[in-house]
Amino acid sequence: MMDLALKNGSNRFEWDHIKANGDIFPVNVLLTAISNQEGNRVIHTIWRDITERKLEEKARQKEKETLSIILESTPHGITLIDRHNKYLYVNPYFTEITGYTLKDIPTREDWFKKVYPEKNYRKKVFEAWGSDSNQTGHEKNREFKIKCKNGQSKDIEFRSTFLKDRTISVLTDVTDQNQAKQELKLLNVKLKHEATHDPLTGALNRRAILDNLTKELIRAKSRNTKLSIGLCDIDHFKLVNDRHGHQVGDDVLCSFVKVMQNTLRPYDLLGRYGGEEFLLVMPDSIVSAEEGVYDRLRAKIAGHKMITRSDEVSITISIGITSSTGDETADAMIAKADAALYRAKENGRNQLAFAD
Ligand code: GH3
Ligand code: MG
Ligand code: MG
Repeated sequence: MMDLALKNGSNRFEWDHIKANGDIFPVNVLLTAISNQEGNRVIHTIWRDITERKLEEKARQKEKETLSIILESTPHGITLIDRHNKYLYVNPYFTEITGYTLKDIPTREDWFKKVYPEKNYRKKVFEAWGSDSNQTGHEKNREFKIKCKNGQSKDIEFRSTFLKDRTISVLTDVTDQNQAKQELKLLNVKLKHEATHDPLTGALNRRAILDNLTKELIRAKSRNTKLSIGLCDIDHFKLVNDRHGHQVGDDVLCSFVKVMQNTLRPYDLLGRYGGEEFLLVMPDSIVSAEEGVYDRLRAKIAGHKMITRSDEVSITISIGITSSTGDETADAMIAKADAALYRAKENGRNQLAFAD
């Protein structure tokens, strides 16, 4: 046996031992070689059955392997920082997201300098992180924009758990998700705009201007104010088309809207009511000022050369005007304005007419 190799003193060995019945079990053997009084070497042995310990070790090893598979295959970056803010571990996905390996970022300070190069932003992140890390066991989700090793900017969500002696952070790349959200937002804005605006001129469409009129009527009633509307119709517009062509006619409509919008007050509303007919809604309209405001618009149009793809075209408009304190419906107001507009046309066009 191995006693030949033994020097005086104790030696520990582990091996699988075979019982008389053939069963194999692990043992830990402490061999102590001593010399007796006669000078002969005596070997003293203590045997311990370590089956249970071996099983525990095996289970622990398996757990470790499982954990390592999870850490290495998860589509999230995972980092472990000790209490001195030194990085102990980063998983492969962390490197995939950020480009950084454990060597690149020995400490949290190195990480901060690299991924938050802008000083003020870095300070902001540092403060947010610092206050959280004071609370042991505290978990926090935060989102920051980082600069990756290849210079790319990414939105990263950090879920950090602050323990007494270490901090575990899980990083999720939410760049695509944020971009999709942003695109959806823009799409919604675009759809909303398309649903409420006339595609040719960009003015509010018929439904939107009527909705606005209804809202303004309710507002006027609740605030005890007055509002006025003006139904504007381009005079002899058919002739514009006949003389210059339909496309130039389209351009005239667009130019008309631009001139009107540049002349109106910010809170006045203009919508395309139909073909070459536009509805103006003027909230908080004071009766005595109405004529001046509408006549200024009429004069402005009459004196303006509408820019088109070819010719410059002059047009005039007739406006039927009515006002209300909010007691009428939108339809009733428009009927009155329409009747007034008819009179303006009858009286020779390029003029205003007020409803009775
Ligand atoms: P009035 O002074 O009585 O209003 O005469 P008018 O010629 O303007 O009125 P009418 O109702 O006889 O004709 C309106 C014209 O507006 C006819 C139509 O082709 C034209 N029109 C309507 N919508 C559009 C459009 O989107 N583009 C163009 N180019 N023309 C349009
Ligand atoms: Mg007309
Ligand atoms: Mg018309």
